[in-house]
Amino acid sequence: MNNLTDFEPDDRWILAQRTAKNPVDVRQPYAWLAEPERTAAGTVEQVATVFLTNKECPFRCLMCDLWKNTTDEKTPAGAIPHQIEYALKRLPPTRHIKLYNSGNFFDTGAIPPDDYPAIAALLDPFETVIVEAHPKLINARCLQFRDMLKGRLEVAIGLETAHPGVLQRLNKRMDLNDFRESVRFLTGHGIQSRAFTLLRPPFLTEPEGVYWAKRTLDVAFEAGVGCCVVIPTRAGNGGMDWLQAQGYFSPPALESLEAVMAYGLRLGAGRVFADLWDLHLFSDCPDCFEQRKARLETMNLHQTVPPEITCVSNHRG
Ligand code: SF4
Ligand SMILES: [Zn+2]
Repeated sequence: MNNLTDFEPDDRWILAQRTAKNPVDVRQPYAWLAEPERTAAGTVEQVATVFLTNKECPFRCLMCDLWKNTTDEKTPAGAIPHQIEYALKRLPPTRHIKLYNSGNFFDTGAIPPDDYPAIAALLDPFETVIVEAHPKLINARCLQFRDMLKGRLEVAIGLETAHPGVLQRLNKRMDLNDFRESVRFLTGHGIQSRAFTLLRPPFLTEPEGVYWAKRTLDVAFEAGVGCCVVIPTRAGNGGMDWLQAQGYFSPPALESLEAVMAYGLRLGAGRVFADLWDLHLFSDCPDCFEQRKARLETMNLHQTVPPEITCVSNHRG
């Protein structure tokens, strides 16, 4: 793996690599689903997720592909409550909900603050409301929104990686202290937090990727989050594909995700979830894929570490 030590992608380069956005309609969320998740209390409950359609995030992180389902214009007043209502009509009843908006819930261009009361009213039936935000946008607005909710607010923050040099090169415009400060701010105001962490971001070998994913879990839990999500890094946004073609990025192996999960669960510091989206991208062995997937699902739902898988093809991960 070439270290590409002098290459630091900026907004302009990242934007130039992009492909076209998907067509979206600001009157509808671009996706919605309900899936089981282990709660802090140790039960497994259905959690609804609504993927809101809104204005693109102002940050330009190197690995991000969330811009694909966003608009260029400021989100019109009333659109977000309408989308939530639309999704709730189509989702089964749940006690917990994630409102993921391809960016930052407290970005006023994406979610107009004048809509907070209407949004909060729609969320009355929920015990837990989870939104996502960048540390630079975690501020008094979070408290304003928290005060309108009947349920508990939780904020998901993209920590990505504890590797300071790689974090800088992800163009995330934050450092580890920004993350720690945000978690402290939220905790101090009775708001829960979770961290999104990346397994093998660009510029790292597979062993380095595993090492830094474990350190990232350490940093997140030491900062005080209640849970972490481990996301295997993938290409598909233009810039990442270029890096992969040049040998500066490779997607992690499924075995690495299992190893990082096992580490995180054994820490016993909080819940750890593997992002299982598009999981087949990280395996080229049909003989053990389903078993590994099932092992990760067990880790997610039971927060235990099942015995390791021995592949019948004896493949090397
Ligand atoms: S802050 Fe989040 S949504 Fe915005 S570009 Fe970075 S990763 Fe993507
Ligand atoms: Zn195998």
